Amino acid sequence: MSVKSDHPETIALHAGWRADASNGAVAVPIYQTTSYQFKDTEHAANLFALKELGQIYTRIGNPTTSVLEERLAALEGGAAAVALASGQAASAFSVQNLAKAGDNIVSSTDLYGGTWNLFANTLKDQGVEVRFVDPTDPENFRRATDLRTRAYYAETLPNPKLCVFPISEVASIGKEYGIPLIIDNTAAPLLARPFDHGAAIIVYSTTKYLAGHGTSIGGAIIDSGKFDWEKNPQRQPALTTPDASYHGAIWVEAVRSIGPVAYAIKARTTLLRDLGSAISPFNAFLTLQGIETITLRMERHVQNTQKVVDFLANKKEIARIIYPSKQTGEMRRRADKYLTGGYGALLGFELKGGMDAGRRFIDALQMFYHVANIGDARSLAIHPATTTHSQLGEEAQLASGVTPGYVRLSIGLEHIDDIIADLERGLRAANQ
Ligand code: PLP
Repeated sequence: MSVKSDHPETIALHAGWRADASNGAVAVPIYQTTSYQFKDTEHAANLFALKELGQIYTRIGNPTTSVLEERLAALEGGAAAVALASGQAASAFSVQNLAKAGDNIVSSTDLYGGTWNLFANTLKDQGVEVRFVDPTDPENFRRATDLRTRAYYAETLPNPKLCVFPISEVASIGKEYGIPLIIDNTAAPLLARPFDHGAAIIVYSTTKYLAGHGTSIGGAIIDSGKFDWEKNPQRQPALTTPDASYHGAIWVEAVRSIGPVAYAIKARTTLLRDLGSAISPFNAFLTLQGIETITLRMERHVQNTQKVVDFLANKKEIARIIYPSKQTGEMRRRADKYLTGGYGALLGFELKGGMDAGRRFIDALQMFYHVANIGDARSLAIHPATTTHSQLGEEAQLASGVTPGYVRLSIGLEHIDDIIADLERGLRAANQ
């Protein structure tokens, strides 16, 4: 039995595991196996019929991965989680679990570029329409809703704009229709608690802060267990009508004896089984190592970032700093309402010198890594106009908040003096 606690510090170390029943091993073992011996034919039949939960084949589940799943669900206060090979797989599954060809979802325009591509192109090619709306006004979600709308989708703290999403405002609109809000909380683990504000499903790229060490691509979907799929059953046919892909199971009924986990079980037993985006046990293990220290790391990420924001304030080379605590009005209200654990460790700033200054800044850095990633223990920097956003036209870049002089930082855990010394180096170069 693992230790039960409501405190993230304890959950991060204990949820889902105590010790190996056969030899007492304390660290979670890496169960590097593909398959699992059934006790007898009755046991095998029960596992396949979901009368009993247990391991069948590592594509669908694995004991190392199960600990990761329990730990993530416990950290977010959810009922169950499904760990996946990447954050991309998690975003895709979160939608595909509810929407079929002919259906649609409504998504915030403020998204990670990979999710944008998935939604605007790949899901569209598969017949699922994604209707993009500006989250500045939560009512835009209602306006884009019709009878085939199956989910709302957004990121808590989307970069590069770093405008926090109005979670409870949009979740309550969805509840009126029986539409769940799916929230990608990748940039704000522990800082924001989407389930407390009515989100139904959380998506993570565990590649970022949760793992923290930059060694392992991974993702997860977490089912809050609180969304009432049966309130408007015609709205969620994927969970409330017979599923031909699992001998006619009606998911909300099939799992009633297990708990409120219809969404998570369906994702595992149909999508993961069929599409096969399983995380390897080794990556699940490495992700667990990272999660053990997530509470301390997030605190330091946030402290260091605040010091960087203070350092950058009033620098003559900088036209504007993009960080939640620098926002005003409604955006600041949202940041304060949802980022209860701190304003995060991503920040942007705009160099007055534009494109050339952005290039010079990045090229002068010696400690920051110049990479297309966020949420590493190391400090990272990128100039979106020459990299992640370079394929977009000027207008699309501006709409996404990226200007030629925009630089994005993901502040790490190094000593603050070294972080600032490197930024000073960059600013000197930008100013030349
Ligand atoms: N969601 C967000 C907010 C991200 O930043 C990323 C990756 O950068 C992803 C999802 C995709 O995650 P992964 O790279 O693990 O597939």
